[in-house]
Amino acid sequence: MQPVKIAQRFKDIQPSPMTKIFQAAEGVEGLINLSIGEPDFHTEHEIVDAAAAAAKSGVTHYPPLAGFPDLKREICSYWKRHHSVDYSPEEVLVTVGGIQATHLCFKAMLDPGDEVLVTDPCFSAYLMQLKLNGATAVQVPARAENGFFPTAEDFDRAVTPRTKILLINSPCNPTGGVLTPEQANAIADVAGRRDLLVISDEIYENFVYSGKHIPISSLPGMRERTVTVGGMSKSHCMTGWRLGYVIAPPELLKVMLLLSVNETYGVNVLAQSGSIEALRSQDDKMRARAKEYERRVRYGAERLNAMPGVTCPEPRGAFYLFPDIYGTGFDDMDFAWWLLEHAKVATIPGSAFGKCGAGHIRIACTLSMDDLEKGFDRMEDTLKKRKI
Ligand code: PMP
Repeated sequence: MQPVKIAQRFKDIQPSPMTKIFQAAEGVEGLINLSIGEPDFHTEHEIVDAAAAAAKSGVTHYPPLAGFPDLKREICSYWKRHHSVDYSPEEVLVTVGGIQATHLCFKAMLDPGDEVLVTDPCFSAYLMQLKLNGATAVQVPARAENGFFPTAEDFDRAVTPRTKILLINSPCNPTGGVLTPEQANAIADVAGRRDLLVISDEIYENFVYSGKHIPISSLPGMRERTVTVGGMSKSHCMTGWRLGYVIAPPELLKVMLLLSVNETYGVNVLAQSGSIEALRSQDDKMRARAKEYERRVRYGAERLNAMPGVTCPEPRGAFYLFPDIYGTGFDDMDFAWWLLEHAKVATIPGSAFGKCGAGHIRIACTLSMDDLEKGFDRMEDTLKKRKI
């Protein structure tokens, strides 16, 4: 008897290269962990207190399915304050992390065989979500000389009659790239001409170190064809609360909401209560943290550029560095495992994010300056001592 019979389509499911490194890193004593894409700061006490007070006052029941109206209003007011865009609460759906937002959108829009343009490299969850929805991810190579984004022409060439969505993520995980106004406009132009919906994952919108964040929906003609993904995880150090949201045309939200009902039945009420407080009162602290991340990535890039065989472009956004390690003579998989073994420093091989990530590693500057310094010292020493 064998009662557990895994579905054919998941029979060969394997941990991703990223999960493998995470798992191996867990057992390393004295590890400096530069692999985790989450802020090292704890959630601020005001946010925790607001959630606790809500729980004590009886906010313990099923939530309104699209999210608390107050939270949706605060989300709109946040985007107005920080990015001068006017959204209305009817355009907002609260989700279980930003990660559920892309998943629901794919589910609502894609038939088997439909194609979605994503960058290569990209946040790897998109690829698995597309696979789960029977859709095809068409990875369009990002160009280092283009700030780690494909050009508009690259996207244009990849469009076929099955293409429904173009997904862009700026500031970008894993590259730290940030779209310039010219690039954003050119991509919007392709979407308009080719009649594509754009999913714009803007979860790192508050971490931009040169230029400014451009909400794709704010570009001419883009409001009706843009789905904006946001969330509290990065901006407000609330990864564990699992609170994200999507801002999209109401006719799409209607379907996404109906699909979410059978998956999650709304989003944790205490996370929503804490998020209302976070969006109301934490702008200054959020800005101060972004400054600290800027200091760290700039320091990290400087340290990497002083290492033999490593080059790192100027960091522009998010909290990641994506140095080219080609000159070390290693490929990125071997390099990341070698660093883990010999330097006790965890990083992610670039090819975990797509084949164009090969020759790079992702470094998350989500540790204190002291620990970062220790990590870069170890990397440098280990590289210098290496016998070729
Ligand atoms: N988008 C990107 C680009 C991310 O890097 C992440 C998290 N690493 C997410 C979405 C999802 O974040 P969360 O579900 O915590 O909101």
